Amino acid sequence: MQKFTLHTHNNELHFDGRYSAREMIKAAEDKGFTTIGVSNHMIMHHQLTPYLEREPMFFDDYNKAEKAYQRHIEILQNLKSDYKIDIKIGFEVDFFCHKKWRNHFEKMLPHLQVDYLLSGSHFLKNSDESFICNIYHLKHLNPQPDAETLHQWTINHFENIIAAINSGYFSFIAHLDYCTIFGLGEDEHYTDYKYRIMEALAKTNTPFEINTSGYDRINRPHPDIWMIKEMSKNGGIVPTLISDDAHYTEKLGRYFEQTEQLLKDLNYTNRFTLDMLKKPL
Ligand SMILES: [Zn+2]
Ligand SMILES: [Zn+2]
Repeated sequence: MQKFTLHTHNNELHFDGRYSAREMIKAAEDKGFTTIGVSNHMIMHHQLTPYLEREPMFFDDYNKAEKAYQRHIEILQNLKSDYKIDIKIGFEVDFFCHKKWRNHFEKMLPHLQVDYLLSGSHFLKNSDESFICNIYHLKHLNPQPDAETLHQWTINHFENIIAAINSGYFSFIAHLDYCTIFGLGEDEHYTDYKYRIMEALAKTNTPFEINTSGYDRINRPHPDIWMIKEMSKNGGIVPTLISDDAHYTEKLGRYFEQTEQLLKDLNYTNRFTLDMLKKPL
């Protein structure tokens, strides 16, 4: 069974986990994991201003964001010597296509001593990103978008994942169909986009995770079984790993056994190994 987790959160600084980095690391060590990757959210964009009050981990100021991320890395570096378990430092990055985002992000990278980045897309957006909205916050929008607008935002969300894959920044891509938790992107209109995501993964040989948090919410992983099956041809089109996306110590390694069995049943043998972690360019 996979003895590591690379997608975990904690409550250091402004981040949204429920336990401290120490508690999460200790719990992973107690579980017998060889490695824990800490991957708090990197969510920064110049159009995030309306949400700052509600979300202390969002930044509309790229310089402030960079300082916070550096501080977080320092905190984790200082913990490393206290544990036997190998601690990898990463971030779950909300990638954006806007030139301003990419410029700031690329300027920031050399100053962030991380072991890896993973891509987690949580936003809907219009085409030029003059409007962005975390899918989770959609319910608070007033007025609510009409069906056509929502359809376009959902397409932009899938396009954003494809762009993140093609960017080459990421060691792996998280929860490919996260939007389906909120009832978005489920019907057949979106099948083409899901195929395009899978094609982009294959073309760039970018690994993807099977995120087990979905079992707690909608009784299936992310991506759904259909997508995993589609990608399982010839032992798996790209390497895959199992992620618990744990925000709580009790969630570390959740449903790993069940997911191992699923991969076995599908003959998905192309597995992610820790030497595939890459530092961002
Ligand atoms: Zn996520
Ligand atoms: Zn996450």
